[in-house]
Amino acid sequence: MYEAIVIGGGPAGLQAALTLGRMHRRVLLVDSGEYRNGTVEHAHNLLTNDGTPPAQLRAAARAEIAAYDTVEVRDAAVDRVTADDGAFRVVFTDGGAATGLRLLLATGVRDELPPIPGLEAEWGRRVAQCPFCHGHEFAGRAVAVALDGDHAAMIGRMLEPVASTVTIVPPGDIARVVSETDGIRIEKRDGERVTVAGLFIAPTPHQRTPFAEQLGCRMLPSGSVEIDPVGQTSVPGVYAAGDMAHVASAAGPMVSLAAAIAAGQMAAAGIVRDLITAV
Ligand SMILES: Cc1cc2nc3c(=O)[nH]c(=O)nc-3n(C[C@H](O)[C@H](O)[C@H](O)COP(=O)(O)OP(=O)(O)OC[C@H]3O[C@@H](n4cnc5c(N)ncnc54)[C@H](O)[C@@H]3O)c2cc1C
Repeated sequence: MYEAIVIGGGPAGLQAALTLGRMHRRVLLVDSGEYRNGTVEHAHNLLTNDGTPPAQLRAAARAEIAAYDTVEVRDAAVDRVTADDGAFRVVFTDGGAATGLRLLLATGVRDELPPIPGLEAEWGRRVAQCPFCHGHEFAGRAVAVALDGDHAAMIGRMLEPVASTVTIVPPGDIARVVSETDGIRIEKRDGERVTVAGLFIAPTPHQRTPFAEQLGCRMLPSGSVEIDPVGQTSVPGVYAAGDMAHVASAAGPMVSLAAAIAAGQMAAAGIVRDLITAV
């Protein structure tokens, strides 16, 4: 019996495992290797690690966690989770299972890209969603924003001090995008072509796993899991952290590595408090 099972080995889950390990709690972290920033070559806007490849960040985190004897890390995919007499039973796709007194869901989201041919190949490289993460990399060069309405205006204004020009193109006007040696060519349905260094889009995020809903956790209009400030969901003993969850007073999660790390730490602290007060 583990004291906590953490599902997810992104920044939220890894930080939670570190925090729980430092408190000598028996923890299992499970990671299926499906990361939201899986196509990204360099992560940005993370203090002391601005520009570090995400895989390097994860490897460094795992090396740090390995120093704590009570934390076990397993590369496996969880198939289902059930509440089991005051604990939580986690069943892996290979048929194995584990049980924990507390459960932390840090399974993140997957992005559904707008149906524009050519986008996927550039996702996380020249096609991005977040000016904080990728804007500076296009400094002094032309960028385009493929969004509608107020959202387009907002992202465009954020990029104005960074880029040489910002072109707003409604996504419905784009026939396809084509990778070039030093940029990306947008081919519009009306025949016009625009070449830019970077293109900003808005993917639709979906919960990567159905576990929170299956356990009965209250969901928010954003599609995220509702948590309190220490990551507790509406189901006692089930915590959530990272891109999949936020407090009800926020419009959505703050999508960033630093925010996911902070959320993972808060949830781990919540679990430690919970384990103590339950005794
Ligand atoms: C294109 C792109 C670029 C980005 N660039 C930056 C950047 O430069 N800087 C920045 O701060 N942020 C960036 N972000 C945001 C950042 O990647 C996320 O905020 C962060 O990864 C969220 O962390 P997380 O731990 O919640 O989820 P994730 O990192 O997505 O991790 C989810 C974890 O859950 C695991 N998992 C899922 N399902 C299962 C299962 N069934 N069984 C076991 N494990 C499972 C996965 O394997 C993974 O380990 C970027 C996002 C995107 C999409």
